[in-house]
Amino acid sequence: MEQKKSILIVEDEKNIVDILRFNLQREGYGTLEAYDGETGLALARERHPDIILLDVMLPKMNGFDVCRALRQDGDNVPVLILTAREEEADKVLGLEIGADDYITKPFSMRELMARVKANIRRTSMLHGDTAASTMDTGTDLIINTDTYQVTKAGRVIGLTQREYELLTFLASHPGKVYSRIDLMEQVWNYGYVGDDVRTVDVTVRRLREKIEDDPAAPAYILTRRGVGYYFTAE
Ligand code: CA
Repeated sequence: MEQKKSILIVEDEKNIVDILRFNLQREGYGTLEAYDGETGLALARERHPDIILLDVMLPKMNGFDVCRALRQDGDNVPVLILTAREEEADKVLGLEIGADDYITKPFSMRELMARVKANIRRTSMLHGDTAASTMDTGTDLIINTDTYQVTKAGRVIGLTQREYELLTFLASHPGKVYSRIDLMEQVWNYGYVGDDVRTVDVTVRRLREKIEDDPAAPAYILTRRGVGYYFTAE
């Protein structure tokens, strides 16, 4: 039998935690709850949840610091930031420190469930893929789809899951240009897009900072102005 997926909720507003717990459990997920950042981080480290729903403004340690600490541990658990509508800047900051996604409060349960499912599906697809191989990108970047490691000239590059998926997707179709909407649908698995395409730009920028010698003059992930992004076909 498949093990129940567990979701860690880190949120200091008790009514939001209650609603989330109720709805997630009804959908068959196991839940863990923390009402402050420190406890959230400790629970994430001890219990290894399948996904974390992370509020930003939290007692003791804010959500960004929790996410940053997990990424520094090398933990690539999907992190979905819960942000208030007036905290627009938080979305970008959240993605820059390695969160996978964000959802704006107040959110509908339907939207939240869709995001949770999309993020968990990505994880299981990634880990369920048993076809062992190394992807030849035609460059000095090597993608090992067995270990999900990317190396450049023999050096391992630490990528978040989303960065890894974006890179793998683009590199498997060298030279083909994808619009941000294409990428949202194919890499993020969203069947809808709004102004969320900004997420793609932020992820591309972070990826470039990690893989490119000069992120301002990229050699791997290139921009086709006004159209989208593509992996070099050189
Ligand atoms: Ca809060």
